[in-house]
Amino acid sequence: MTGSSGQAAPTVTGPPPASGPATVIVGSGNAGLAAAVRLSQRGVPAILVEKNARLGGQLHLSGGAFSAAGTRRQAARGIQDSPAEHYADVLRISHGTATAPLVRLATEHAATAVDWLDALGFPFVDECPAIVRGHEPYGRARTYWGAHPRNGGAAILETLLPHLDRAVVEVRTGEQVVEILTETGTGAPRVTGIRTIGPAGERVVPATTVIMATGGYAASRELLAQLQPRYAQALVGCLPHATGDGHRMLMDLGVPMTGQDTYLPTMGMIEDPDSPGYAFPLTRARLVVDANARLPWEIWVNAHGERFVDETGLSPDHRERALLRQPELSMWGIWNEAALRHAPSSPIGPDWTAEQVRAEAAAGRWLHRADSVAELARMVGLPPAALSRTLAGYATDQPDPFGRTYRPDPLTEPPFYAVRTTGAMLLSRGGPVVDELLRPVTTSGASVEGLHAIGELLGMGQFSGDAFAGGMSVGPALTFGVWIADRLAEQRQQAPAR
Ligand SMILES: Cc1cc2nc3c(=O)[nH]c(=O)nc-3n(C[C@H](O)[C@H](O)[C@H](O)COP(=O)(O)OP(=O)(O)OC[C@H]3O[C@@H](n4cnc5c(N)ncnc54)[C@H](O)[C@@H]3O)c2cc1C
Repeated sequence: MTGSSGQAAPTVTGPPPASGPATVIVGSGNAGLAAAVRLSQRGVPAILVEKNARLGGQLHLSGGAFSAAGTRRQAARGIQDSPAEHYADVLRISHGTATAPLVRLATEHAATAVDWLDALGFPFVDECPAIVRGHEPYGRARTYWGAHPRNGGAAILETLLPHLDRAVVEVRTGEQVVEILTETGTGAPRVTGIRTIGPAGERVVPATTVIMATGGYAASRELLAQLQPRYAQALVGCLPHATGDGHRMLMDLGVPMTGQDTYLPTMGMIEDPDSPGYAFPLTRARLVVDANARLPWEIWVNAHGERFVDETGLSPDHRERALLRQPELSMWGIWNEAALRHAPSSPIGPDWTAEQVRAEAAAGRWLHRADSVAELARMVGLPPAALSRTLAGYATDQPDPFGRTYRPDPLTEPPFYAVRTTGAMLLSRGGPVVDELLRPVTTSGASVEGLHAIGELLGMGQFSGDAFAGGMSVGPALTFGVWIADRLAEQRQQAPAR
């Protein structure tokens, strides 16, 4: 038995009990949890290993929106749609750069997962499925999300958890998988188990099937520097467990990564001064950049104090690409008291009042207010002369160099406000090369028997290419969790009784 690190594996503590689970799921985010719940419903014993103390992964923070075509909910609302159209739309939005066979598999089976969630009592908000414009819109209403006072992901978590039958699926929290164990005979490599470190120390869990659902690596500076070096300075916008453990273990097995060159920033996120490098959760504070949701009165400038895009443009893709070209992935939102007083909503979301903005600016931690442009520029580290020129240019009647026509206030009257935002990474882009059964494929072209990769581990780059296709991380994570569980349950039914 060889370990994925290349080191000799520790002595196996004993053979698996004859009737015991031969299936291990690693990670309990929406991919691993969906697989665990579905397996438990189908009576397939398994072990769910989770390094955190709680189950749920990014569902504790995520917006939890997912996309699917051909669902019961669409049919009930008379929406004509099909997996083929969903697939074509994802390839259009991703400029043909997503991994087509994976998108095909995910879109073909998405409705099964969504109808299942529906049957489990998922609290869909009334308006969905909808066409959502926070990312480049689909051509059909096929995005869904749940009602929850905290965040959409929590609606998924609270739907799934009560259906996890722990008599069928043993749950081990606080136990970290550190190695995938394989054996290589004359044929393809085959998984034989995992090695973990937990409260009981180190142990080997023998298994014939291992489903890796360990999520992404957006919180690992080291892996970002290795896999997405040009954008390693992006703000971390996800929970800190996203350290790419699964990516490392698969690379140790000789599995190449793909899709990592496709980063696009999530805009408007603000660095939390108490957690350098991390953004405030979107539900706490952000600059609202989506002109579909709110037409900005402010301007955005880069580190040179210069504007770089029409702030009121409706294409998320266009503005995200514009930010990608700016130094340090950073921009500053600049407005004045008149804008704060007269605009229908404040620049800071999710729904800050003008009073709250003024109070935060008075504290001066991440939001700043000054009585002159020069003073504001000094406070936030922008070149004063350039910022003055930019504001003066914005205030003229000349045609806007970026084509902006909505200029409700010339931003000439003090006091002025500024907030710095930096392109963020909510989810990582790279993931392992897999075959049509979601088995990682090594550089020598061999699929690892018994091993499967699902969820964000596969990488947003594979599902969205160089863009953001809405709901295409949560959606495929749920879909593949259900799909792989169904395949295993069917294999078990077909296997001759021992
Ligand atoms: C703020 C925010 C908003 C988002 N909104 C959306 C959205 O609306 N739509 C969308 O499609 N996507 C969205 N995403 C992305 C999406 O939520 C995630 O990509 C998805 O939830 C990941 O699910 P997962 O199960 O693959 O991974 P995770 O949820 O990250 O779960 C992985 C689990 O594996 C565990 N784990 C990791 N390594 C080990 C190990 N070595 N041993 C044991 N356990 C391990 C982790 O602790 C974790 O519990 C958002 C992300 C964020 C941060």
